[in-house]
Amino acid sequence: MTSIKKLLVANRGEIALRIMRTAREMGIKTVAIYSEADRHALHVRYADEAVCVGPAASSESYLRGDAIIDVCKNLNVDAIHPGYGFLSENANFARMVREAGLIFVGPSPESIEVMGSKLAAKAAVAAYNIPMVPGTPSAITDRTEAKRLSAEIGYPILIKASAGGGGKGMRIVEREADFDEQMDRAVSEALSAFGDGSVFIEKYVTSPRHVEIQVLGDQHGNIIHLFERECSVQRRHQKVVEEAPSAVLTPEIRDAMGRSAVDVARACGYYGAGTVEFIVDDQLNFYFLEMNTRLQVEHPVTEQITGVDLVKQMIYIAEGKPLAINQADLQIKGHAVEVRVYAEDPTNNFLPDVGTLQTYVRPQGNGVRVDDGFEQGMDIPIYYDPMIAKLITYGNTREEAIDKMIRAIDEYQITGVQTTLPFCRFVMEHEAFRSGQFDTHFVNHYFTPEVLQTPENTDESELAAVLAAYLMQQQKPKTNGSTATVAQQRSKWKENRLR
Ligand code: ADP
Repeated sequence: MTSIKKLLVANRGEIALRIMRTAREMGIKTVAIYSEADRHALHVRYADEAVCVGPAASSESYLRGDAIIDVCKNLNVDAIHPGYGFLSENANFARMVREAGLIFVGPSPESIEVMGSKLAAKAAVAAYNIPMVPGTPSAITDRTEAKRLSAEIGYPILIKASAGGGGKGMRIVEREADFDEQMDRAVSEALSAFGDGSVFIEKYVTSPRHVEIQVLGDQHGNIIHLFERECSVQRRHQKVVEEAPSAVLTPEIRDAMGRSAVDVARACGYYGAGTVEFIVDDQLNFYFLEMNTRLQVEHPVTEQITGVDLVKQMIYIAEGKPLAINQADLQIKGHAVEVRVYAEDPTNNFLPDVGTLQTYVRPQGNGVRVDDGFEQGMDIPIYYDPMIAKLITYGNTREEAIDKMIRAIDEYQITGVQTTLPFCRFVMEHEAFRSGQFDTHFVNHYFTPEVLQTPENTDESELAAVLAAYLMQQQKPKTNGSTATVAQQRSKWKENRLR
C-alpha cells in the first residue's frame, strides 16, 4: 500500500475541480495542468501547483501524455487522476504512467484495453451469463452473410462501431434495401472518428431506456455495485439529463442488473470506479451494452443517493486499500437528478454557442449541488466540450428532486450564451418525464424549438419590449452617450430571451 501525497489531475474544468476538492479533503496536494487557453481557468487557481503543458488544441496539451508524465517527475507527483474524456480511457497512457513508477487512479491498462472495444468486451463477458442484445459476435467481414444475419435478427437493426464512443459511428437500418448505404456510412464514420473501421450488428431495441450501474472494485478482488443511474434523455445519443435511481426498476431487476454489472467487472479483472451500461426494453428486459472504465460525468447522482464519495474511493483503491464498503451496507436514500448545462442552443439543433458568460449566478439552497468550472465574465473556450456546469438536485422523493430542479433552473442566471437550461426545464415539467414513462426518443418525440416559446417571449412581446427600450433610450439626455441601436437592443433581448 502506497499513500498518495501529491496528485496531478490530467483534466480541466468542473471535473478537475471536483477531483481536487476531494484530494484536498484527504490532505493530498494537488497539481493542475492547463493549456494556453485555460491560463485563467478556475482549476488552475484552485490547485497547489499548476503547469502549462501546451497550446489550446487538446492534442497539444491535455492529450500530451509524455509532457504530463514529465510534470509529475519534475514536481515529485506520485499519482495521476485522468478524470473523464482526454486520456482517461487510453490504455497506452495508463501503461506509460505505470512504467514511469506512478500510480494511475483508475483501472489497469489491460482492463481499459478489453473494455475499449465493444466486441472484445462482449467476448470477455461471454463466460458469464450476461444478457446481450441479439447481434453478430464479431466484426463484419462478409456483407452477404451480414445481411442474412440481419434478416434473421429482424429489422430494424443497428450498425455500431466496435471502437465507438459518444454515439458516433452508429447507423439504424430500417430495411434490407438500405443496408449497403448505411453500412458504407458507418464504416467511413468509424474510420474517421476512431481510425478503426470495424463494425458489428445489433438488434435495434425500439423503445430503449439507458440504465447504467456504478461499480467499485479494489485490487484484492472485491467488487460492489452502487445501484443504477438512468440516462435516457439524450440528444444525438448523448446524455443531457440523468437521475438515480431509475423511475422504473423494481428491486428484483435492480438486483439482477447489479449482479450482472459486478460479473462484467469481474470478467476483466476490474479495479477502480467503472460503469456498466445496459439498454432496457419496454418489458424491462436488460442487455449489456458496454463498460466505461472511468469516472462518469453523471457520477454525482450516485454520490447523492448513496453518500459515497466516488473520487475518494478511487484514491483509496489506487493506494491499494481494500474496499471498506460491503454490498450489504449500501442503501438507496432519496432521489437525485442531474442536468448538464451546455453552452448550446436548444432552438438550433443543440449547436454549441460559445462566448463570454456575461451573467453567471449559480442557484443555491438545500439539496442543490452545482459542479462547475466558470465564473461570471469568463469565456467558454471553443476548443473543448461546451459544458458549463452540472446542476444536481436531491430530494426525499423523485418528485421533490424534480421540483427542486425547476426551482434551481429558475434561479440559475446565465447570459451571453444560450444554454440547455430551458430545454432541461421543459423536460422536468413534461408529463412523460414526470410519470417516468419515457425512453431515449424523448427529444424526438416531444421536443421542438417552439415548445420553449412562452407567452412572454413570443414575437409580439419581444417587439414591444424592444420598442419600450428604444423609447426610453430616446428620452435620455443626449449627453448620456448611450448609442444602442434598435438592432442592438433587439439582439440583446434575444440573447437574454432563453435565460
Ligand atoms: P457509445 O459508446 O457511442 O456511447 P453505446 O453503445 O453506449 O455507444 O450506445 C449509446 C446510445 O445509443 C445508448 O444509450 C442508446 O440510446 C443507443 N443504443 C445503443 N445500442 C442500441 C440498440 N441495440 N438499440 C437501440 N438503441 C441503442
